[in-house]
Amino acid sequence: DTTHGAILYLDDVTVSFDGFKALNGLSLDVGVGELRCIIGPNGAGKTTMMDVITGKTRPTSGTAFFGQNIDLTRLAESEIAASGIGRKFQRPTVFEAHTVFENLELAMKADKRVRPTLFSRLTGEQADAIGETLALIRLEDAVWREAGLLSHGQKQWLEIGMLLMQQPLLLLLDEPVAGMTDAETERTAELLNTLRGRHSLVVVEHDMDFVTRIAGGGKVTVLHEGSVLAEGTMAQVQADARVIEVYLGR
Ligand code: ADP
Repeated sequence: DTTHGAILYLDDVTVSFDGFKALNGLSLDVGVGELRCIIGPNGAGKTTMMDVITGKTRPTSGTAFFGQNIDLTRLAESEIAASGIGRKFQRPTVFEAHTVFENLELAMKADKRVRPTLFSRLTGEQADAIGETLALIRLEDAVWREAGLLSHGQKQWLEIGMLLMQQPLLLLLDEPVAGMTDAETERTAELLNTLRGRHSLVVVEHDMDFVTRIAGGGKVTVLHEGSVLAEGTMAQVQADARVIEVYLGR
């Protein structure tokens, strides 16, 4: 077993763009049910790392495994998504002209395993699954509202809900609270704390207060120049002299 019990296992991953190393020997292990925060200054390689995990970018060298033994360096993007990795980009991408309910329904039916039911009525079980997600993302009161009329924060939660409808094993979130109000940020922290344990999550975020709230006593990974500069609890990495230098020195 090459994954050592981790859901995600990157070892010595390098990505070169014309000789420039966006990732330079990156190694990372994320445990099942873990919520891992990834921080680091602009250009550290956070986006490139997410691109490697989702198959958008092929590593120049190194290994990347998901779950029991899925080699992420050999699969197409669509195969990786179908294997249970859901990614949310920074900007919300919901179907604006459809209701909240329809968005969740469409996301569920986009799942290959239930696709034959696209034009059939929802089963009781499917309706329950939508109800559960609505409660989790706290959009019950907006269920019949067009998604285009939601606030920025509500759209972000809806998109997280759409990912959840596909029952991902690993969720990748890119700056989930960018542009949110304080109240929306607080609710997002609550949502992610609820998801912790049920799903494995990798969250890239710049908002340090938010990272502190969702990291709890869990591990935070600091990327710098394409590899791991420091890893530990938020308190540990914030006290790390190299981390301080990287953040203050830019
Ligand atoms: P972050 O998300 O942490 O800001 P990125 O992963 O976007 O960092 O980028 C890491 C480095 O790699 C940056 O210096 C960026 O300019 C460079 N880079 C990213 N993608 C490409 C590309 N397609 N071609 C050339 N350089 C790239």
